[in-house]
Amino acid sequence: MELRTLLHEILEEVRPLQQQGQVAQYIPPLALVPRSKLGLAVVTLDGEVHAVGDAEEPFSTQSISKVFTLTLAFQQLGEELWQRVGREPSGTAFNSLVQLESERGIPRNPFINAGAHVVDDIVLSRYAEPRTALLDFVRCRAANGAIADVAAVAEAERETGFRNAALANFLKSFGNLERTVDEVLAYYFFHCSLAMSCVDLARSFAFLAHRGICPWTRERLLTPSQTKRINALLLTCGTYDAAGDFAYEVGIPAKSGVGGGIVGIIPDRLAIAVWSPALNAKGNSLAGTAALERFTTRSGLSVF
Ligand code: GLU
Repeated sequence: MELRTLLHEILEEVRPLQQQGQVAQYIPPLALVPRSKLGLAVVTLDGEVHAVGDAEEPFSTQSISKVFTLTLAFQQLGEELWQRVGREPSGTAFNSLVQLESERGIPRNPFINAGAHVVDDIVLSRYAEPRTALLDFVRCRAANGAIADVAAVAEAERETGFRNAALANFLKSFGNLERTVDEVLAYYFFHCSLAMSCVDLARSFAFLAHRGICPWTRERLLTPSQTKRINALLLTCGTYDAAGDFAYEVGIPAKSGVGGGIVGIIPDRLAIAVWSPALNAKGNSLAGTAALERFTTRSGLSVF
């Protein structure tokens, strides 16, 4: 079956599921996004783009942006990174404080919020212009110079980010932040506020399907071995405390965000991104997860 036809079919099949689940409420601007938004995009490594529904409309990337900051930090620090952050699923919510105290300030993995704060601290210490470095990175990867952060979203997160503030203070108290808590939080809210479409996101993850080389610029961003490792982390820790279930249902490395986006890759083939704002109980897009499950099942493409 034609890829585009398959994507259209899937979109129509999962549309009724958009009535289920909850749009994230705890970041006020996210609560205003209509649950009817639905987009799906596949980008193949030769640059073909298949986009259906609202796949070209930018939305809040939220935790998906943690993959970009992790890549920037990994480029600079390599394996040394793992002295400050672990590589195990946490088995707790992404914003939980419990483990951080008992595990003495070493977050379980780079995709829970505490882990992302440590990664941000590294980016802040290693890049002269950390915001520009990130914007340049996503704009080049997505071949879209218009990608930007949304100050109102970052500000709303700052105003409501009590748990993030608590996590960052904990990290600081254990000596696992070099920069100030305020600097780390400001950078974290900045990158969570990046607005990107499904097409942008699929394009920007394509290097992870391509052994670390950006298919469009031909730049090597990570070694094949580092790429393998980021993908392993995406599979085991990329979809909150539901990564086991997601691997079972969908079977690809992926990252989700509370804005309702999920982006995944199939090595040597493609990157796929979906957006539907209503989330399941674990924080993953409900209709988005269903769409990806249908895609991997019907196409027969996954990592397994
Ligand atoms: N900025 C959000 C938070 O820290 C990110 C949540 C997410 O997408 O997982 O709560």
